[in-house]
Amino acid sequence: MKKEKVYAFKAALKYRKRLWRRIEIKGNQTLGDFDYIIREAFNHDTWDHLSEFYSGQVWYSKGFGEIEPDGRGSGAKKQIDQLGLIEGNTMEYVYDFGDDIQHIITLEKIVEPEKETEYPRVVSKNKPKYRYCESCEEQMVKTIATWSCIECSDEEQREVLLCEDCLEKEHENHYADEILY
Ligand SMILES: [Zn+2]
Ligand SMILES: [Zn+2]
Repeated sequence: MKKEKVYAFKAALKYRKRLWRRIEIKGNQTLGDFDYIIREAFNHDTWDHLSEFYSGQVWYSKGFGEIEPDGRGSGAKKQIDQLGLIEGNTMEYVYDFGDDIQHIITLEKIVEPEKETEYPRVVSKNKPKYRYCESCEEQMVKTIATWSCIECSDEEQREVLLCEDCLEKEHENHYADEILY
């Protein structure tokens, strides 16, 4: 039986390239599998919004078909080893056609699979540049902020960053965005 190769990609946000994840996926796995792990790795919802992979620039090159959040859609079934990629090739990926969050996906290398390893998997990510919760800071405590309160940020015209506890206690029912590191 032919051993499946592993495709090692680097996925980065197109407009915040500092934020990236290295993801390995097997050749016989699908764009639907790839979509799911990208959504998880970049804190995108796995239950909402369409996404699509493109052979080149998002909107301007050949799309591989839409992928729905539940893993259905015309683009979900295509296998990674059927995309005709060679090392160094770049694709793009868009999550949420409205918010238009674009990613650059580079095939860094094709390698042999490791034994007893589940694919796809995230193997590394950018070094996080943490920011801190402003409510905790007022108490002279340094806690990593994991949320940005959209409502307070809009109102105060600056970014209001919070930890989970402070968001729940002091900003109950406010819309908030999870911060990606
Ligand atoms: Zn806090
Ligand atoms: Zn708030």
